[in-house]
Amino acid sequence: PVALTAAALPVIRGASVPAYDRAAVRPGIVHFGVGGFHRAHQAVYVDRLLAAGAGAAGWGICGVGLRPADAAMRDALVPQDGLYTLTLKHPDGAVETSVVGAIVDYLYAPDDPEAVVERLAAPETRIVSLTITEGGYNFSATTGDFDTENPDVRHDLEANGAPRTVFGYVTEALRRRRARGVPAFTVMSCDNIEGNGHVARRTFTAFARLADPGLAAWIEGTVRFPNSMVDRITPATPDALRAEVAARAGVDDRWPVVAEPYTQWVLEDDFGAGRPHFEDVGVQVVDDVAPYELMKLRLLNAGHQALGHFARLLGYEFVHDAAADPDVRTLLRRYMQDEGRPTLRPVPGIDVDDYIDTLLERFSNPAIADTVARLCQDASDRIPKWLVPVITARLDDGAAAPLVAAVVAAWTRGCEGTDDAGAPIVLNDRHAPDLAERASRSRSEPLAFVAVPDLFGDLAHRPGFTEPYLAALASLRERGARATLRALLAG
Ligand code: NAD
Repeated sequence: PVALTAAALPVIRGASVPAYDRAAVRPGIVHFGVGGFHRAHQAVYVDRLLAAGAGAAGWGICGVGLRPADAAMRDALVPQDGLYTLTLKHPDGAVETSVVGAIVDYLYAPDDPEAVVERLAAPETRIVSLTITEGGYNFSATTGDFDTENPDVRHDLEANGAPRTVFGYVTEALRRRRARGVPAFTVMSCDNIEGNGHVARRTFTAFARLADPGLAAWIEGTVRFPNSMVDRITPATPDALRAEVAARAGVDDRWPVVAEPYTQWVLEDDFGAGRPHFEDVGVQVVDDVAPYELMKLRLLNAGHQALGHFARLLGYEFVHDAAADPDVRTLLRRYMQDEGRPTLRPVPGIDVDDYIDTLLERFSNPAIADTVARLCQDASDRIPKWLVPVITARLDDGAAAPLVAAVVAAWTRGCEGTDDAGAPIVLNDRHAPDLAERASRSRSEPLAFVAVPDLFGDLAHRPGFTEPYLAALASLRERGARATLRALLAG
């Protein structure tokens, strides 16, 4: 295999390579948090733009890493001239590898913090994008407030020495732009957080208010924070992938990426300093991302719950095996079509039937090797956020949601700690002891599991929920998940 560098591109045969002139590409986007997801998603859209030509050469990406763990990304990307391979694994076993050329520079901030601030302050930087994980936004999950106790944030607010956080870097760069009469860049969050643009606006302005109120007012008035919905399952790079890419594509890549073929990006059209023609390369650019987000939460995320809790009782380890079980598959499809879908708002440009078919296909992809245990973990965060609003919306409409009620019953039954074959179930949930206690108490006090307003609102008082829930729970205990599913789906 040939070592991946710009000079090696002409001799690579087993992967597609950028055909555009990378030397002419300038970085108009600075990205914080170059991990697997950015490299499988945003950078691929930019790569397609660059390949299409048409004035995109000003929209290359300069990656930035802030955290000690990012030194490894520097050591992978810098010797490779920013190049890396992306391998897509299709549900039918087909595999394709391409070399992505969109990242034209990479800065590991602790090496030279001033270089990062100046890159951000440069007039050619017009978008600052982020995939810094939910934790990167530094807000409290309960109050939503910006956490000023974080020691790195405290350090950056005192502004002695180089910044440590994304807030410190972005705020200092905006201060310089304002002082120099350079227009603000747009801050584009691509993290998987509901209302990610709103969250970014809130947290960046909260930091700026504490650092410099005058600057904060300017930021509030001029910086745009578009919302977006992003989707492409990108597992952490498995150890075996390097050897696989070397063998199949003939390329030695220090840090390859693997992902599913499906990709989606819905982006709010709210940019203050221009943007690439993302719509030319498959991005849906819209006025309001919220209906798309709702669709994802109520079909994909809630669908994962519908599958997960029954699959766990049935003893499945992998999501793709459970999705191939005809009863589980029927449950999923019926949940999505009959109960999730009626609660959505119109989603212009999306065929929801296709979206549902594609979800079933994605859940069936063995190459992703997603586990049932992962879907079921932290259910006490997920069920209230993703499923309870579906039941509530259905009941408020005078409709029923027997399948969601049965999923909640399957969760209750799983919290008793064994599956239908008697194998132990380990609850990976911050409320695990409490869940187990309430699940076992519900044998004598039937509503004990759901009579918790923090998790279930007033559902324990709504017969439209409690009747199908209690019937499903009794059936799960007496007859097991298989017979319960068949009876439910026959009805
Ligand atoms: P990753 O671990 O490969 O990369 C995460 C990056 O974020 C790293 O560069 C890390 O240094 C940086 N980071 C973490 N905490 C930070 C902080 N406090 N400040 C600054 N940078 C910080 O993870 P990934 O798979 O690339 O996922 C990143 C994010 O992308 C997810 O949290 C999610 O919001 C979004 N996303 C991921 C997927 C997926 O399937 N992986 C799908 C949709 C959306």
